[in-house]
Amino acid sequence: MKILLAADGSEHSLRAAQHVINAVSGCERHEVVLLNVQAPIDAPEIRSHMKASEIEAMQETHGGDALAPVREVLDAAGVPYTPVVLIGPVAETIVQFAADQGCDKIVMGTRGLGALGSALLGSVSQEVLGLTHLPVTLVK
Ligand code: ATP
Ligand code: MG
Repeated sequence: MKILLAADGSEHSLRAAQHVINAVSGCERHEVVLLNVQAPIDAPEIRSHMKASEIEAMQETHGGDALAPVREVLDAAGVPYTPVVLIGPVAETIVQFAADQGCDKIVMGTRGLGALGSALLGSVSQEVLGLTHLPVTLVK
């Protein structure tokens, strides 16, 4: 079983990580890919001030920062994983990467960093559900 754990660093994504830890504990034949996606920055006021390579480097840093608390949780539990940061449209990139990597399922939170509204599901969760053919576990 190869699991794609999508994380934005939110409390919800930490709970998703805990769910993965519980799911894989005691089993050796699990693989975990931990993914954060940074949406492309198109804003002309940023594009005109920074080189594309600088923007990319900044986004990779942001992605690494988002993964840091999740990595702490997985490390503390002794669950091995491959951390990945990608730049692209968030839901599409999660779905495409999970397929490319041959993952068997996607695990993510119901909500994320933008969890202020009353909606049951965040937009990324909703879009992933709509786009992927893989089983998805949404962790509340
Ligand atoms: P919205 O973004 O629509 O305001 P939200 O932030 O509450 O709402 P989502 O963004 O859909 O909700 O987050 C739900 C789950 O999707 C998160 O718990 C996380 O697992 C995953 N997720 C969200 N954003 C990213 C991202 N940029 N990279 C990887 N996974 C993400
Ligand atoms: Mg969000």
